Amino acid sequence: MWRLPLPDGRRLVMKDFVYQALSSRVVFGAGTVGRVREESERLGLSRALVLCGPHHETPARDIMLRLGDRAVLLFSGAAMHTPVRVTEAALALARDLKVDGLVAIGGGSAIGLAKAIALRTDLPQLAIPTTYAGSEMTPILGETREGVKTTQRSPKVLPEAVIYDVNLTCTLPTALSAASGMNAIAHGAEALYAQDCNPVISLMAEQGIAALARALPLVVENGRDLAARSEALYGAWLCGTCLGAVGMALHHKLCHTLGGSFDLPHAEAHTIILPHALAYNASCAPEAMDRIARALGATDAAQGIYDLAKRLDAKLALRDIGMPRAGIERVANLAVTQPYWNPRPVEREAILQLLLRAWSGSRPEASGLARGSVSVEARR
Ligand code: NAD
Repeated sequence: MWRLPLPDGRRLVMKDFVYQALSSRVVFGAGTVGRVREESERLGLSRALVLCGPHHETPARDIMLRLGDRAVLLFSGAAMHTPVRVTEAALALARDLKVDGLVAIGGGSAIGLAKAIALRTDLPQLAIPTTYAGSEMTPILGETREGVKTTQRSPKVLPEAVIYDVNLTCTLPTALSAASGMNAIAHGAEALYAQDCNPVISLMAEQGIAALARALPLVVENGRDLAARSEALYGAWLCGTCLGAVGMALHHKLCHTLGGSFDLPHAEAHTIILPHALAYNASCAPEAMDRIARALGATDAAQGIYDLAKRLDAKLALRDIGMPRAGIERVANLAVTQPYWNPRPVEREAILQLLLRAWSGSRPEASGLARGSVSVEARR
């Protein structure tokens, strides 16, 4: 580790790092779904199973038409948090029909189902994301069995190819676009203070957050603004890459606990928790906070995220998305039992305060630690 003095009095810390590139092919643009047959041929698919959620059959049927004789069935049962019972139903069909590949169109739920089948079969996947969740760029699979969500990493679940088509995102309702975009920002934000962060991923994280912060207010104003949609999808790709490349921390742990145990909507839970998780970690990750604030054009990362969510008219309180007050203690207990690595130690009382503020929707505050009590160093 080297320390270089900066003109503003801080020290630049250059850490050793490991960078591992993940192998996936990305086709990005407007109208790129027109290349689905060509891309599936590239993957050697001749009997594809097409996967989507129940409210997203129209674009999935279009994919079926484009694939023609290369698709054998459309399965439209994908559900949030990848329930194992849904995976088993789709898997049985995949085996009966002897499918040789998976094409998932939709958000993280449809892509999660393809990943869960790929984990069990090693079938190749072509993902066509239509939200900003970023799952298509990660070797991570979260699954839910009897109300408990577990997450694992495996190279088998990373989709081999991804088609980003900006046109497909134009139908995403503005409230969901806002929440989904904030979900993507959360990946970039936590990547900046990850234990295994590295300079390449940090560049992508800062760019990704900046692109989303610029685009989302325009998307909320006009969901058919193609330039804004393109910028938002580009940011989502970058932030999804960050999620796939480095470890996540407290924020993702809290959101997984809330999603798995209380079935809260994924993107909305991320939107609400993020400012509070950043405030909690601020004093122990100053350089990451500077970069997040810079990407947002704000003076403070946590307050800037809260203000962005407010500007997007997103939900700001867990109580408004179905979280019972009585469940907060349980989430705090679960968060401290098997915590992810976090820049600041995960302390139950402070986490409880964080969750109570997120439950009521108040402004973020750093709980249980005096601001500036940790020495400030810049880190590359
Ligand atoms: P989602 O996939 O459940 O989609 C939300 C809703 O939006 C659905 O009703 C869907 O049909 C609809 N929708 C999606 N795209 C649309 C469009 N373009 N137009 C109109 N409607 C559209 O939600 P999500 O937030 O994308 O994904 C959440 C899931 O993904 C969770 O299960 C989460 O755990 C998982 N996830 C996993 C990873 C990972 O790396 N493993 C990363 C992010 C999210």
